Amino acid sequence: MNRLCILYIFIFLLIPYLSCTLPDDSTIAIVNVNVVPMDSERILTDKTVLIENGIIRAIGKSDQITIPTKAISINGAGKYLMPGLAEMHAHIPTPLETLPDEWDKEAFHKWDENVLFLYVATGFTTVRNMYGDPMHLELRKRVERGELIGPRIWTSGPPISGNTVQTVEQAREIPAEQKAAGYDLIKILPGLKREVYEALYEAAKEADFWYAGHVSAEVGVPRALETGYLTIDHLDGYIEIIIADDADDLPASMFFGLTLIDYVDETKIKEAAQLTKESGVWNVPTQVLIEFMLSGKDPEEMARWHEMKYVPRPLLEHWKHVTRNFQSWPDYSQERVDRFIDIRRQLIKALNDEGAGILLGADTPQWWVVPGFALYHELRSYVESGLTPYEALKTGTTNVARFLEITDKAGTIEQGKWADMVLLSGNPLDDIANVEKVEGVIVRGTWLSKEEIEARLGEIAEMYGE
Ligand SMILES: [Zn+2]
Repeated sequence: MNRLCILYIFIFLLIPYLSCTLPDDSTIAIVNVNVVPMDSERILTDKTVLIENGIIRAIGKSDQITIPTKAISINGAGKYLMPGLAEMHAHIPTPLETLPDEWDKEAFHKWDENVLFLYVATGFTTVRNMYGDPMHLELRKRVERGELIGPRIWTSGPPISGNTVQTVEQAREIPAEQKAAGYDLIKILPGLKREVYEALYEAAKEADFWYAGHVSAEVGVPRALETGYLTIDHLDGYIEIIIADDADDLPASMFFGLTLIDYVDETKIKEAAQLTKESGVWNVPTQVLIEFMLSGKDPEEMARWHEMKYVPRPLLEHWKHVTRNFQSWPDYSQERVDRFIDIRRQLIKALNDEGAGILLGADTPQWWVVPGFALYHELRSYVESGLTPYEALKTGTTNVARFLEITDKAGTIEQGKWADMVLLSGNPLDDIANVEKVEGVIVRGTWLSKEEIEARLGEIAEMYGE
């Protein structure tokens, strides 16, 4: 036997030893943790959760689970482990060329990658992107290959509106085209003519490729419900169907029905929710987007909210500008805005009570809604609308898995499911504000500690800071 052979044998003998003693970041054990499984409203105390190659391999009493020596071991004592959350109405940034010419493009350095990180850093391990572009298909691949830290991405194709799709012929092409391009759904913006919508509906049925988003005025919520929208977003079109029967001389509906708010009949809210339940159509309320845009607050003060340091300066200036414009709008009055927000919250509560599906979404990063952080506000607004913290958390976990038809892989913490989870220092079922207390995140089985998260957040703040 020559020396080389002996060396090989020696190395082979070492391999099993090396592979079971060196830490291996694909095996993670979270030890002594309280699990918030989200399969019902309960806490499983003193558990160890074992993760291998991105999958939850075992959950058991801490003294009954054997932790492989190669595992990264995380002390979960006093902490709460819940499924990763989802932003179901995201706007992952589009290419910089699509920004207004006068904006300083350099100020948006790595904005797309940083947005993806902000979601993960705040516990959001799934997003549905609602303003698709070919770049998002690439971005998704980079995340899947592990080149970027990001959530799992579902994405619409490039959105369609009354401006971009004006004819029945154009509408007929869209479902098959976007399906072939690799998108997951079609995003509808306002303004579709009724016949264009009907052509889109027929083509969607044929291609079995569906749409979500705004409800055009000529379509209306009842028809949208009948024709199987995947989701109605922003509660668009709902104010229009709860107007008092004797109301006449209605003004034009603007900004999701704000201009109609004086004509609303609150007793019709329940009926609207029942109609939604019967149809099986889901809603993504994006309530905080509306609340923030219409907030009577001084935009300079809003710009000082702690999460605004992660936003490129020109974008923040734009948000201030838009808010000032809103506040100087003739139809704007604090009284009307307060009633509008209250009616929308009653709608959210009624949808939940009737069993119509709600999905968590905040339209991030649009005006004042920063990825992740705005969704904490969104969850709080659901609780303030009358949902329990558990019901609110379902909108971002189990409801999402049901909607995406991935209940075998996601939504709850169970053996065999994806290891997309967030570790918190407080119980989110007791107080919804505890979702903000992130101690670490696991996405696709990769552990990000609080220290790593804070370091990268610091870099982002530095990148965009003044
Ligand atoms: Zn949007």
